[in-house]
Amino acid sequence: KLLVFSGTQPSGKLTIGNYIGAIRHWIVMQKYYECMYCIADLHLISTVSSSNVYAFRKMSLDTLALYLACGVDPNVSTIFMQSHVPEHTQLNWLLNCCAYYGELSRMTQFKEKSKFKQDSVNVGLFNYPILMAADILLYQTNFVPVGDDQKQHLEFTCNIARRFNNKFGTVFTIPKILVPDFGSRIMSLLNPLKKMSKSDQDSNNYISLLDDATLISKKVKRAITDSDQPPAIYYDPVEKPGVSNLLAILSGIGGESISNLELIFKNKTYSCLKSNLIQSLSTVLKQIQNRYFNERSNENKLNNILCVGAKKARQKANLTLKKVYQLIGL
Ligand code: ATP
Ligand code: MG
Repeated sequence: KLLVFSGTQPSGKLTIGNYIGAIRHWIVMQKYYECMYCIADLHLISTVSSSNVYAFRKMSLDTLALYLACGVDPNVSTIFMQSHVPEHTQLNWLLNCCAYYGELSRMTQFKEKSKFKQDSVNVGLFNYPILMAADILLYQTNFVPVGDDQKQHLEFTCNIARRFNNKFGTVFTIPKILVPDFGSRIMSLLNPLKKMSKSDQDSNNYISLLDDATLISKKVKRAITDSDQPPAIYYDPVEKPGVSNLLAILSGIGGESISNLELIFKNKTYSCLKSNLIQSLSTVLKQIQNRYFNERSNENKLNNILCVGAKKARQKANLTLKKVYQLIGL
């Protein structure tokens, strides 16, 4: 069976961006592939400044419960925490020695996330794409479903895998990047030129999967539309980033194609589009939330899933790491 690997950082509650760009595709892929879904807690410490052990643990369990609520099935897929599988950091070092300073300096995410920090930015953030490459390559991954923002990191993963294979002997499968045509880049509600992110300081920029109907309504009503006259509803992310983003969200949540939505809303107002979106989001998120609160209340079950997941992941990871050690001559 071909293998799928993907994950998220437990940096906050997941957003509709994470759901539309990644997680809803994970659910479908479970039917056809062997799937490994990771909670990337080691990546999280590259951006979080405080060290609050309780909060860390809590955020990871929140994320796991959200995976389950969205439909990730622990009986079919392997769900695990990155920190429970030390092989990730072991391979990370070996890949460090194959990665170039120059190529990492060009990573957009690093440039964005380190913008205002200058001297205080930690090396972990710089190193992020290498740890991510280790995550993926350890499992001989065939497919990585991700949002558009991770494309550059994935290309780096493929490059470093090829470089390693050429230098030491073929060991890594070169993964294929799967970025959906629509919904792979959901934008911030107040600034549709910036991607929606769960770690955004201003929560009005995103809709969390746990936002209730009142909050959803408030945030959608405030969302930027476009100022062109007369107002028109069609999909054009360059000329009409605000309206296009709302269409992308509605399509990603409700399942209707963008071109159908364009027909439906052809002569309608922006406020009509918004009330449809509010309706659709409230319904779908309510279902996710009901399942979430149910799953989240059973910590024994959650811990057990992580325990089983770590065991399965380590077995696989070890096979690759052993081969890598042998090839290098360690
Ligand atoms: P952070 O701000 O902490 O980086 P994030 O929202 O970017 O949070 P990640 O954990 O980095 O979330 O990414 C998880 C998955 O969600 C990745 O596959 C990523 O490509 C996807 N993703 C993130 N943001 C979006 C978005 N705005 N639209 C579509 N997909 C997204
Ligand atoms: Mg991110």
